[in-house]
Amino acid sequence: MEFQIGPIRPPSEANSLLLRVTENCPWNKCKFCMLYKTKQFHTRTVEDIKKDIDAMAYYRDEIQKYNNNGKLNVSAIQKEFDKLSTSNEKECYYMVFHWITEGNCHSIFLQDANTLVLKTEWLTEIITYIRQKLPEIQRITSYGRADTLCRITQEQFYQLKSAGLDRIHSGFETGSDDVLQLIGKGTTQKQQIDGGKKAKKASIELSIYFMPGAGGKKYSEKNAIETANVINAVNPDFVRLRTFVVKSGSLMEDLVKSGEFAECSDIQKLLEIKMMLEHIQNCNGYLASDHIINLLQNVNGYLDKDLNNMIDYINSFLILPRKIQRKYQIARRMGFTGDWTMMDKLDIQHQYSIEQYEKNVPDGEQFESLLKQYMDFYI
Ligand code: SF4
Repeated sequence: MEFQIGPIRPPSEANSLLLRVTENCPWNKCKFCMLYKTKQFHTRTVEDIKKDIDAMAYYRDEIQKYNNNGKLNVSAIQKEFDKLSTSNEKECYYMVFHWITEGNCHSIFLQDANTLVLKTEWLTEIITYIRQKLPEIQRITSYGRADTLCRITQEQFYQLKSAGLDRIHSGFETGSDDVLQLIGKGTTQKQQIDGGKKAKKASIELSIYFMPGAGGKKYSEKNAIETANVINAVNPDFVRLRTFVVKSGSLMEDLVKSGEFAECSDIQKLLEIKMMLEHIQNCNGYLASDHIINLLQNVNGYLDKDLNNMIDYINSFLILPRKIQRKYQIARRMGFTGDWTMMDKLDIQHQYSIEQYEKNVPDGEQFESLLKQYMDFYI
């Protein structure tokens, strides 16, 4: 008994079951993304997907056999796991076990990059089948590109919601048309607003991603302000920060070489987040800095009641002496801490290496390259 598992899911779906409904990305042209570059997009048949859901339900039942009044007999489960003959079966079994124990059977995420591209009738049938076979699931979530969202009619969104689709994650990345074009996103601000509003009107939660730095130095201000404009128009439930970095080997490198893209410094990207927040009006979604790529991990909060606190928090970092900022930037990029007030709690060895880098690497290009060496691993 096996089911397919795709390569990625949002961090908030770490404890979810992963159901592969489509394979790879139907767009596959974003210049910053290398995830599916060598792979062809396919939709899977509803029949195959149902078999995967059956396999998930089967493993759930196998594991729950060892549930005695809410307590799992882990050594018996381990013996069953050891008997499985393939690594795929073991991966599937472990995922279901993890979903039960860590995820409390709460959610399922529909992979891969743009599942909403599937015909609404098929998707409705799949979601209905999930609800039937895995009734304990409380949240069904999917990725959906803005150009796909804007093509789905309001009626279809209602249909998906009533079948049981709860949340859509969408990589808006930026609200600026100039930046969208530059990074090859293949979507527009209008599509983001149309699609986002329809999803929200159907009471489907919308979680969008913003990439500070995606427009480089040229479009830095536009990236911040136009993204705020989209957020203001749509009022998404979540805005998730994904600081932009030119990944080695990505098509963005060609833009750097041709002079079309000059990457913002680490601090300029933080200033974009601040500027975006300063332009937010009448929103009440949650801003999450839920990725290690972001400089300040603690910029989190509701866009109404926490807005000023988040801006103040960024300002309190920006007014620090440059030496302290630099030390924290190094520590953060090396993965030692996400909070500059905790720097003196780092272990002595780490503090020593940070000191050395701070002393020996001058600000500017060299310093940014040092930080990027580490950031390249995080994306
Ligand atoms: S739509 Fe998403 S998965 Fe597809 S190329 Fe763009 S960023 Fe990558």
